[in-house]
Amino acid sequence: MAEIGHGGKEIVERILDPKEAPAKVRGLKQVPVRSQIANEVIGIAYGFFCPLSGFMGKEDLDSVVKRMRLKDGTIWSIPILFDMSDQELADYGIKEGDTVCLTYHDNPMAIFEIREIYTYDKEAMCQSIFGTAESKHPGCARTYAYKDKFLGGDITLVTPPKINPPFDPYFIPPLEMRKRFREKGWQRIVAHQTRNVPHTGHEWLMKGAWFQTYAELPIEKPLVGVLVNAIIGEKRKGDYIDEAIILTQDELRKSGYFGDHNHMTSLTFWDMRYAGPKEAVFHAALRTNLGLTHHMYGRDHAGVGTYYGPYDAHHLLATVQDELSITPVYSMNWLYCPHCGEITSEGLCNHKKEWQKFSGTLIRSIVEDGVKPPRLIFRPEVFDLVMECAEKYGFGSPFVTDEYLAKRTPVFTIPPLAG
Ligand SMILES: [Zn+2]
Repeated sequence: MAEIGHGGKEIVERILDPKEAPAKVRGLKQVPVRSQIANEVIGIAYGFFCPLSGFMGKEDLDSVVKRMRLKDGTIWSIPILFDMSDQELADYGIKEGDTVCLTYHDNPMAIFEIREIYTYDKEAMCQSIFGTAESKHPGCARTYAYKDKFLGGDITLVTPPKINPPFDPYFIPPLEMRKRFREKGWQRIVAHQTRNVPHTGHEWLMKGAWFQTYAELPIEKPLVGVLVNAIIGEKRKGDYIDEAIILTQDELRKSGYFGDHNHMTSLTFWDMRYAGPKEAVFHAALRTNLGLTHHMYGRDHAGVGTYYGPYDAHHLLATVQDELSITPVYSMNWLYCPHCGEITSEGLCNHKKEWQKFSGTLIRSIVEDGVKPPRLIFRPEVFDLVMECAEKYGFGSPFVTDEYLAKRTPVFTIPPLAG
């Protein structure tokens, strides 16, 4: 049965048969890639980025920048690019039409059929994707850091990544994910995008999204699941460590705040662009490919600083909703109202002056103090697990430090090619 992904295109895994891989790689030039590119190779090869079959060529990039669409008209909002400098191109002797073998930490990872080599105006790209060309925007900084030439062409994975513990159960690519959803019998599944350890405000974002998804017509007691899809990629100092994010999200199910019947946790390799509304549209494509029917969007989705209005992502999604095969579920902020004595949604009760918003800073100071907070704010099981992760994986801290960046076990490795 064909699995249909974003843009109505079939999801195809681009992975070599292990028996054929050594012969296909033999004699190819080897080009090492950094983690940023390796993450995207995985995204392309497993169909997370369907309908992309490789890194973008100039026509697709130009169309994404100017119309938020691939050249064939499919909605697409974020460039997926492979960059190289003129020096590197000369050193490797690479030209259009070449096929090379991309290596990651010295092991063959993927075959790259280079269709074209081109340049593109990075400032124009930033202005369109991020709504600003300021280099202090992290997405712009990432774009300006690209080397001057882009290489477009198809990718085929040579060796599947080995996902290292504790992440291994959570890497569930699109085709496998769809199988699991069918096994569970879920008729509607709503995505929760995260790069956080969950406090109860996050928990209620999920619970609220579950209610909204459940209540959609026709109501026939649908089986509704929440899929937590954690973004695992480039880390910045002060972020929660990846191990704490993925394990605490799953802890909400294990501790019974959700259950097997309605909650699952998984990860996607992706470096956040902080593109706000444009990234929200990208997330719709990504989660369509994972087999989701609904996608929850909260306040300032994938935003950073004050670059985007709190509900800009909702407005942009509304303009393309008819062309998406995933239904956005829009949510306001959840907060704590001491007067009501419960978690409530922004704009619901009339105690605005008493509302306590969940700020990152507040939660951070709670975690740093190491004193167990009230269970209404932070679930004790989640809190204990954060502390455990700090010891076990974070060199004493649940937040990313230089030591963590230098010494952590990588999330995935590419095993050497057999034969
Ligand atoms: Zn209240």
